[in-house]
Amino acid sequence: MSDCIFCKIIKWELPCAKIWEDENFVAILDAFPNRKWMTLIMPKKHTTSNFANTEEQLFSDIMKASHKVANILKKWLNVKRVGMVVWGLEVPHLHIKLYPFNQKQNWQFDGFENWINSWPQEDMSVLQNLAKTIIANNS
Ligand SMILES: [Zn+2]
Repeated sequence: MSDCIFCKIIKWELPCAKIWEDENFVAILDAFPNRKWMTLIMPKKHTTSNFANTEEQLFSDIMKASHKVANILKKWLNVKRVGMVVWGLEVPHLHIKLYPFNQKQNWQFDGFENWINSWPQEDMSVLQNLAKTIIANNS
């Protein structure tokens, strides 16, 4: 796709900080990270970012590539964990976001302490009714 920023990066038409690649995927350090050392893994071939519409084999393969890159980040950044997000928004090219971080204690992670607790709690009966409807209609 000619106007896709990730396709331009993959073709070296835009500068990037590539940390890993294989025949089908490339991993770069994000130039506009919302967290330090945020890393993107993407297929070299333009593919929709709507991951639910992605071919199952491709999605399986990008998960394996992301696992490899997560372990590279753990080693080189000396972090305990790497979070993973499949956002599917912003750039119309399938990509995985990896977030390296260190665990403080229990489920407290540097930079995320107040983030998770800031979300409002959903009404459990609403969730359970929706879950029943989904299960009943998903056969
Ligand atoms: Zn693209």
